[in-house]
Amino acid sequence: MQTEGLRKAQAALKQYFGYSAFRPGQETLIASLLAGRDVLGVMPTGAGKSLCFQVLALLLQGTTVVVSPLISLMKDQVQALGQAGVPAAFINSSLTAAQYRRTLERAAQGGYRLLYVAPERLTAGDFLSFSQHTAIPLVAVDEAHCISQWGQDFRPSYLKIREYIDALPRRPVIGAFTATATAQVQADIAAALRLDEPQTVVTGFDRKNLYFEVRRPPDKMRALLQILRDNPDKSGVVYCATRRTVEEVYEALCSAGVEAARYHAGLPEQERRRSQDDFLYDRRRVMVATNAFGMGIDKSNVSFVVHYNMPKDLESYYQEAGRAGRDGEPAQCILLYGGQDVVTQQFLIDRGGEGLDPGTRRAVQSKERERLRLMTFYCHTTDCLRGYILRYFGEKPPHYCGHCSNCLQNFEEFDITVPAQKILSCVRRAGERYGMKMIADILRGSQNERLLRLGLDRLSTYGIMADASEKRVREIMEYLLMQGFLRSEGEDYPVLKLTPASRDVLTGRTTLRMKAAREDAARQAKPRSQADGPENPALFAQLKALRARLADRQGVPAFVVFIDASLRDMCLRLPQSEEAFLEVSGVGQAKLERYGGDFLPVIRAYCDGQERIP
Ligand code: ADP
Ligand code: MG
Ligand code: ZN
Repeated sequence: MQTEGLRKAQAALKQYFGYSAFRPGQETLIASLLAGRDVLGVMPTGAGKSLCFQVLALLLQGTTVVVSPLISLMKDQVQALGQAGVPAAFINSSLTAAQYRRTLERAAQGGYRLLYVAPERLTAGDFLSFSQHTAIPLVAVDEAHCISQWGQDFRPSYLKIREYIDALPRRPVIGAFTATATAQVQADIAAALRLDEPQTVVTGFDRKNLYFEVRRPPDKMRALLQILRDNPDKSGVVYCATRRTVEEVYEALCSAGVEAARYHAGLPEQERRRSQDDFLYDRRRVMVATNAFGMGIDKSNVSFVVHYNMPKDLESYYQEAGRAGRDGEPAQCILLYGGQDVVTQQFLIDRGGEGLDPGTRRAVQSKERERLRLMTFYCHTTDCLRGYILRYFGEKPPHYCGHCSNCLQNFEEFDITVPAQKILSCVRRAGERYGMKMIADILRGSQNERLLRLGLDRLSTYGIMADASEKRVREIMEYLLMQGFLRSEGEDYPVLKLTPASRDVLTGRTTLRMKAAREDAARQAKPRSQADGPENPALFAQLKALRARLADRQGVPAFVVFIDASLRDMCLRLPQSEEAFLEVSGVGQAKLERYGGDFLPVIRAYCDGQERIP
């Protein structure tokens, strides 16, 4: 029964969204909801939360109600669903009275599979009466952390959700989704929505497609221009700490010929809206903004987020940087650090907290200073940047991610088979009676008095690693312990012992590789490996232009027509028939019918042209 449901979900995923497999977490969430069990999904942005309730809405009888606080996000999703052949609509303050009435009428006739609703609209009389006369199998609560007073974005209107559900003739299954929720906030969400033993899926904070980098350039403007040159034709955001810096950077970019827009709270509402739309619809590729920009934008194809100044804390940084790569594509998050940034933030903290009583204000400021200190450490650390961020949020990441500037510059992988053999044979020759320190001393030929007294300098392994640093020898021993090639016995005086696996290393049957920090202080900065460009770049450019025309004609953002990944997949597969076009990631039945006729001829013409070239 359940597997039958999952099979249908798979089919819908393929038919409507053009994807062939669920991502981690999605299957569990969908299966639970299908079985009528409430869920709480905590997954990072872009992981595929929305897709869960979108697929489910296609399988359930009736209209799925989606509660979301972000108006432009609703609009995007409804447009994208329309393109995929899924009838959907939204109800929020952007509708006129007449549009509102029409939407409700169509909804009452069962015209939509999904209805997105702003929370404050839920308990309005006409919406409630509509809901009481329609089958509502599922209520999906997006940005569910907004219901928690512990979260950063508490919205009192979210408290209406429960009131709304209580007023329905049949209790729907409830799915709550958020990208950020501490354990406390999770508990809060479950309590406030009265979820019934929810199936909780937490996939961690890590956004694997994001590359993190810190630079300390002598000239930030030059560094920024270089980043823009490295990312031609890509969309990105440049965050600045103050309005004045936004203006300066904006001016400089415009005079350098970059199509930039600007956004900060000092601009008139109308201009801010225009800037946001210019950016969203790819008319301007770079947005220069203060942190006022971002609340409510959901542009999925942001390829880089540059911080021209260090933000006030890692919460802000991860949230802002995290606006890159919502589509799951490789994206860069680069922070341009300068000592002045600390001074600016310090100033903002000292000036902040007005209106609070002096005691509270001091307490708040002291917390803010502590967070600023940890943010500043991020800019100075030589450890893995991703690891630093994830640890800050309470996760236990590995020491090496391989996808941040520190990992690329400071770590290397090397063969440790020979040093490992030396260490293991030293442990054996010393009779498995000593701890790490003594073994390292023997290997490095130390004149340590106790060592000499015990006659350990007469061992054949004495001094055979004289040229390795003590740190490196220890790292390798720790690695061997971790991997089970050594074990440690005894609590007060732990001594190293061999294990059955040690033999394989000693006999050379197993070779070992380890990642560790480079030893040489002169770390040459390797240029960061660019995300691989598309296959057939000339075709890619043609397809992008075609996409822009099609999007323009319909007045929707380009990524609503196809995300970049789909265009890249077309360039890789070069589909020339309708069946082949359906194989492209992101091409479902509706998109084949709508766009196959536009894209296939371009791809065919390109392939013909290629064949003629000998
Ligand atoms: P979230 O709501 O968690 O931010 P979305 O549901 O909006 O994430 O998905 C982010 C992007 O990933 C969208 O472009 C979506 O179409 C795509 N996506 C989601 N699930 C899958 C999947 N199983 N396979 C391929 N792409 C997917
Ligand atoms: Mg979402
Ligand atoms: Zn790293």
